[in-house]
Amino acid sequence: MAPGDRLPDAAVLAEELGISKITVRRALEGMCQDGLLDRRPGRTGGTFVAADWNTGVTLMHDAEKAAALDSLHLLLECGLVAHSAGEVPDGSPEGLRSLVAELDLAQDPARLVELETRFHLDLAELLGGAEIREVASALLGRQCLLLPAPGPAVVRARNRCHVSLLTELGRGAVDPAVRAVKEHQRTGPS
Ligand SMILES: [Zn+2]
Repeated sequence: MAPGDRLPDAAVLAEELGISKITVRRALEGMCQDGLLDRRPGRTGGTFVAADWNTGVTLMHDAEKAAALDSLHLLLECGLVAHSAGEVPDGSPEGLRSLVAELDLAQDPARLVELETRFHLDLAELLGGAEIREVASALLGRQCLLLPAPGPAVVRARNRCHVSLLTELGRGAVDPAVRAVKEHQRTGPS
């Protein structure tokens, strides 16, 4: 979306992202307070991308906070993988596999980031249930405001880690699956 664009309703966003309306409303509220979104009342009102979104988002970049959230997310995923300990239900990573295939084909940088995020939310739900998906979405949502979005090359490299992770999960190999999660975290522009 571009500055000035009107956001879809919270219910629509929640449906699209597969997360609860409460999580979406909380995120929108926070972004209004940070000046990234504008709320306008009235018939032509709604929630809009702020005109100075780009400046606002750049001001929010904070590598230290991002690294702290990244560590937390890494622990969450490693924990979920260990917790699942070879009990991933048969055939259930189908959805994740099709996301991996879509990631390999996607060209648009924004779409790549969206699919990348979706992979981790779906993974959290598969291994931990719907409530863990909410936790992961709040974490990743905050994180994406603290760092510039990863470029296509980084997302594609991370997608190789997704493949290893799914393979190892599928054969119940916990240690190699945890290593794939760690390798994913190390795959970055820095
Ligand atoms: Zn990923």
